[in-house]
Amino acid sequence: MKSDSMKRVVAAYALSGMLSAGLAAANVSSAPILIGNADNQIALQAGVLAPQLLRLARVDGESWNGSGAEILIDTATVDGIAVPLQWRFDAKSSRVQKNSASLVYEARHPDLRLYWEWRAAAQHGPIEHTIRIENRSDREVWLPLQESFRFAWNVAATQPLEHLWIDKGAGEAPPVGTHLVASNDGYAWRGESSTFAHPRAGEPREIIPYFLVRKTGATSGGWYAGVEFSGRIAMTLHRRGDALAGVIGLNPEPGPFRTRLAPGETFTTPTVFVGASDGDVDATGNTLRRWVREVLNDPESVRNPKYPLATNNSWGSAMAISEAQALRMIDDAHALGFEMFHLDAGWFRGVGDWHPDPTKFPHGLATVSDRAHKLGLKFGLWVDWAQAGTSKEQGALNVDDPHVRDWLTTDPPPGWKPAEFKGITIDLGVPAAKAWAAREVDRIVRDYRVDMLEHDGYVVAEGCDRSTHPHAPFDVANSKRYSDADFLWMDGPNSTDVSLHATRAYYDIHAGLKRAHPGLMLEVCNDGGRMVDFGSAAHGDYFSIVDSYDPLSNRQAFYDASHVLPPAMLETYVKEWPTPRIDNFRYMLRSGMMGWFTVMIDTSSWSREQHRVAAEELAFYKKTLRPLIRSADLYHVGPRADGKGWDGVEYFDAGSGTGALYAFHGSEATPDVFNFPLRGLRATGKYRLHFRDGSSPDRDVSGRDLLQSGVTVSLPLANSSELVVIKKL
Ligand SMILES: [Zn+2]
Repeated sequence: MKSDSMKRVVAAYALSGMLSAGLAAANVSSAPILIGNADNQIALQAGVLAPQLLRLARVDGESWNGSGAEILIDTATVDGIAVPLQWRFDAKSSRVQKNSASLVYEARHPDLRLYWEWRAAAQHGPIEHTIRIENRSDREVWLPLQESFRFAWNVAATQPLEHLWIDKGAGEAPPVGTHLVASNDGYAWRGESSTFAHPRAGEPREIIPYFLVRKTGATSGGWYAGVEFSGRIAMTLHRRGDALAGVIGLNPEPGPFRTRLAPGETFTTPTVFVGASDGDVDATGNTLRRWVREVLNDPESVRNPKYPLATNNSWGSAMAISEAQALRMIDDAHALGFEMFHLDAGWFRGVGDWHPDPTKFPHGLATVSDRAHKLGLKFGLWVDWAQAGTSKEQGALNVDDPHVRDWLTTDPPPGWKPAEFKGITIDLGVPAAKAWAAREVDRIVRDYRVDMLEHDGYVVAEGCDRSTHPHAPFDVANSKRYSDADFLWMDGPNSTDVSLHATRAYYDIHAGLKRAHPGLMLEVCNDGGRMVDFGSAAHGDYFSIVDSYDPLSNRQAFYDASHVLPPAMLETYVKEWPTPRIDNFRYMLRSGMMGWFTVMIDTSSWSREQHRVAAEELAFYKKTLRPLIRSADLYHVGPRADGKGWDGVEYFDAGSGTGALYAFHGSEATPDVFNFPLRGLRATGKYRLHFRDGSSPDRDVSGRDLLQSGVTVSLPLANSSELVVIKKL
């Protein structure tokens, strides 16, 4: 545990004592405010000086009882002078309803208003929390870091606890990915998330900003928290004595954080969601995944019965893609039953110059898009729209253009040249840069008749050394610069504020695109799975979850991310992979068929048999698997894939009584039999098991037997698979 964090936790306890006295003196009602939904209830208290979360509880079970008032920022800087803030509860401006509360606190000098807000947006699932601070003065005010959420639960020191968190898939699937560890006395953990997810040697992987704490032993119950933001986030969890404490919010390191608030502007903390659960990892995940679909996802996409679309992508040919090849791929994609053709990088004139390369695409992109549309396919397009390069063509984002240079996060070194598809990021937090990007993506979608726009690369700036931008200025002495073959980036006290401004602007651009082009889908890719988080889930339709595309990487990344995010959003790209036998070919395809299925192979290279099998598997995906991927419960019934042994997941939809078990057998030929436990079934029901490839004869089994004994799958071949369809009789 970091000593300064501990001091603040101790301070929170002390303040709690003071606050009780203050409340009595001021004769403020000490009755807790209760809000919630069918799953969760929270109890809040409007203290005179600060609000407090008293309790988070499952409506039918365990409660987590808090100690300590919220810590509101206690200074602001005006005209270079730090001014202490005295917050006072403003009952008249506060609002409480059955499923939401907005408790208002005011400070006079400077004139600031703080909204401490809680909202249950759906009947089931977690409750969201946001703090907004409004500058009502006529002066520019600088604020220090207001955390999103601070907790200090009382938990008996003898109670065994486990802590679950998930790594991002980023460039390569992580070695562990899904962490479930004992959290005993003295436990201290810190997780970070940003839009970059740099793999720095010796440092932990970035997390999907979420964790679950569950009781083990004789007692069950748990609680979880996540952050709806893609910028720089940190989460901590500490256990000492009978306190389980931590902080969630913008990453305070490297500090000190500060952010500028012009008159009339509002600072908003990244929204946090919290929920109590019965502690079961998959049951908790099923509630959360459903909530993400209902509350965060674009309802238009969720309603589309073809979502997630079966997609063929051109990146198998990398930058060499051409019109002739794209048209050939579209024709073959149509014949196979794909629903979207996705043109990846390689189509444009240059980085920052998002016009078709006249040599590769002599008739422009609309010709390609029209061909896809004529055959009933959607047209997707890759663009790294926040990158500047050196093209001097009209409309290109050129680093040497004086206006553009002001938008860059840093000056390029002398003689700098962009890489094949990577340049220097413009800071979208600069209003003129954001306006340019918004116009440019709108033009691209309109002119090229795009149904799905994929962004890739680092659209959100992490660090920036400009002092003319709205974010806090760069601090030369306390910042570091990094570079590798493709990138220049910075890490300093202003990094979190740079990321905050750029992330909000990025969200605005996505929201604007959705408004202007109803039905447009947005893929979030950041060199693969670096922006897999709940903010992206609210501003995009699906993620590339990992940037390596072999069967093992795809299954590992899916296993991890699917603990917390809807599987329909989790895209795995299937690349060409050695498949000497047709069983290996099915294994390769199915390893990408658990969520959003994108093949990145020029399928005209497939044999006649591979074509036939792929068409059959695609038809099965669309008819049988996709409805489950869209809305069934998901259970991690097998171990995480290691490429050698067995792994698998189960979907089961209790409403329709249907499900599917995906079983995979890795490279080691033995053992050739594996038993998967099943979940979600009714003990009193009877179910038909259909082994799609006929690896075992179909059979009817009672729910009780399946729940007790599971399903045994037999696959003697290395790198093979089976799909077991479960249907209630
Ligand atoms: Zn900047």
